[in-house]
Amino acid sequence: MNNKYIYPILTLLYIFLKKNDKIYLGDDYMDCLFCEIIKGNIPSKKVYEDEKVLVFLDINPNTNGHMLIVPKEHVVTIDDISDELAAHINSVKKKLYKLLKERLNCSGLTVVQNNDYGQDVKHYHVHMIPRYENDCWHMNFRQDNLKEIEEVLKELN
Ligand code: 5GP
Ligand code: ZN
Repeated sequence: MNNKYIYPILTLLYIFLKKNDKIYLGDDYMDCLFCEIIKGNIPSKKVYEDEKVLVFLDINPNTNGHMLIVPKEHVVTIDDISDELAAHINSVKKKLYKLLKERLNCSGLTVVQNNDYGQDVKHYHVHMIPRYENDCWHMNFRQDNLKEIEEVLKELN
């Protein structure tokens, strides 16, 4: 390929990847709130830590004990996380659920993990939301266009 095309192509690729939060170069890490919390530059209420994750209380809890499991590696969405790290996070979820039942006597647990739309912090994290009877936390379930959606998704597997 002619050399004169390389830089414009790389620039466009960089803009595309950055726009989609897929790359972090140099100072970009400084912009990541959860990387700063992991480095200890921003304080947090730590609940659990191991070599792969940090768990701390959400600053704006949905219910008592709402915490976030955050991988130390800067990954953004479900597309970026390795199966190995996802499996590790799953084992941490179980450990924490046990802790929440013992210490906070919660009646259940809702696990939420936002990707792209609805994801305010672009560093992968899992919300662990302890549930209590009559806590009024709810998801909206609706049936109006179920038939069309079934049609669109039926070939997926
Ligand atoms: P998301 O919308 O990205 O799934 O959730 C981001 C979560 O991070 C929110 O629940 C929000 O309350 C929490 N959060 C935002 N900033 C901070 C912070 O500085 N410290 C802590 N501990 N939690 C934060
Ligand atoms: Zn980060």
